[in-house]
Amino acid sequence: MVSAALGIGHGLEMVALTALAEGPFTRKSGKPLTTSIRVPVERIVTGPVGGRLALRVRAPGADAPRPISLSVDRNEWCIDDQPAPSELEELLADSRFLAQHVYAVATATLQAFEITLGRRMGWASGHRLVISVYDTIPYTSTGYDRERGLIRFGHRTDERSKRSVPLALYHDLVAHEVTHAVLDGYRRMWTDSDALLDGYALHECIADVVAMLSVFSSPERVEQQLSVALPGADGKRGILRARNIEKEVLASGLFGLADGLFSRGAARRPLDTDVPFEWRLDPEPHRRGEIAVKAVLDAVVKLWQQRLERPGGRSSRYQVAEAGAQLGHQMLGMVLRGLAYMPPVDPGWEDLLRGILAADAVLVPTDMMGYRQAIRDAFWDIDLAADPDELLDGLKHLRDLRYPVRLSALAADPEEINRFMWENPRLIEAAGIDQNAGIVVNRVRPSTRVGPDGFVVSEIGASYVQSVTMSKTEARNKLGLRVDSDYYTVRGGGLLRFDEGGRLCFAALKPVMDAEWQQEKLEAIKREAGIRMPAATFHREDERTE
Ligand SMILES: [Zn+2]
Repeated sequence: MVSAALGIGHGLEMVALTALAEGPFTRKSGKPLTTSIRVPVERIVTGPVGGRLALRVRAPGADAPRPISLSVDRNEWCIDDQPAPSELEELLADSRFLAQHVYAVATATLQAFEITLGRRMGWASGHRLVISVYDTIPYTSTGYDRERGLIRFGHRTDERSKRSVPLALYHDLVAHEVTHAVLDGYRRMWTDSDALLDGYALHECIADVVAMLSVFSSPERVEQQLSVALPGADGKRGILRARNIEKEVLASGLFGLADGLFSRGAARRPLDTDVPFEWRLDPEPHRRGEIAVKAVLDAVVKLWQQRLERPGGRSSRYQVAEAGAQLGHQMLGMVLRGLAYMPPVDPGWEDLLRGILAADAVLVPTDMMGYRQAIRDAFWDIDLAADPDELLDGLKHLRDLRYPVRLSALAADPEEINRFMWENPRLIEAAGIDQNAGIVVNRVRPSTRVGPDGFVVSEIGASYVQSVTMSKTEARNKLGLRVDSDYYTVRGGGLLRFDEGGRLCFAALKPVMDAEWQQEKLEAIKREAGIRMPAATFHREDERTE
């Protein structure tokens, strides 16, 4: 039993909870393969309902959810860890374990974002995200419902079991859907009604990266996957042909994991296929997004192989797996950190790559371990490139700005950002801002992260958006846009980051009054006109067929 010490220090205490490492059918030594997830202790009432999550748990066959307590004696300050039932049928019927598993994975996913980005992440729907873990919906409708701020997991029959299988028992599916909810709260405009398809594809890409790498961060699961690709002489741990591990074997281990996710999720191609020509124009968001997922996984494999070259790196299969899991964890951190360096509107693939590299360069100025190079190489293979490290900040034409601001106000007051922009015509020009129209500064947030050298990096991030509505004639005269409607609205925005001294240290700008960019965007809008964007849920009904 673990309970919180009330009073001083509360909030720092952690509790280890058992969750399935992958899903109900992944077993080892006659038991389901589990992993231990450390989550912060918080007050949880029967539901279970905590500060950030509310779970609705319906028992198989029941009409309505039945509140469940994660504490044996119903103590609100205490969670009792329950081991996973060993028998498959028992596991599938156990609502208490299902609740614990979903609570642990969802909390860990939210934590991954908050710890990496050094700030709290809000939900779009309010302060608590509702997860219906055994819903009556058809399992093909499983997904995040952005209108209602709700994640619903269905269940389905499986020939390997008598009972119905709750989809929420799959670790990666929970991480994937919770990531959609986190991103929706963080960057609402990436997938709003004016968003381009790239925004949706990026959502899928990041949700898949988080899902895959959060499973991959468990050495037990990686070792098990490797044992499929590379059986030991007598099938036991440590008897090694690991000495001969080649890139292909590592890749098949990791990509095998990815394929497992994909076969349960959208009907997608295996990941280790060739990159299609013009993948960036693929009309299906998942297929478009999976190419960037492949690039991230390729980078993990490359770094994994490099790490094994070190002395003792291949001494046992477990060690090989542990190195892979550690890299998975680090790569997940790199991708998540990059989000804070991406624009609030119209994110594209270059923005993703640049964000990952720029965020890493701030934290780890010298790329001694070759992580950024591995990312650059892997993205190069999918035809994406970024500026060299010293030009990633986007400030080439924004040196010597004026700073009529107070540092304390800069970290909290959107007006101070407004003032800073107004007093710097060069920035207004670079951001293509219409000086006669207002801008909306969405958020100003301080963030604190600790680098691998132990030093703290504090920055202030601010994002703004501007929408300008023009008549048909104005659109043609000012931006060369040929539109059919009488009025047309152009939108742009940017992300500005300030260092500890209050100086601008990074800018990602999507210019508003910029003929070239707005024409490119209009072409994309016309191209995507016939495509139905996922509205209520990010997953289409027909997509989860196997
Ligand atoms: Zn999704």
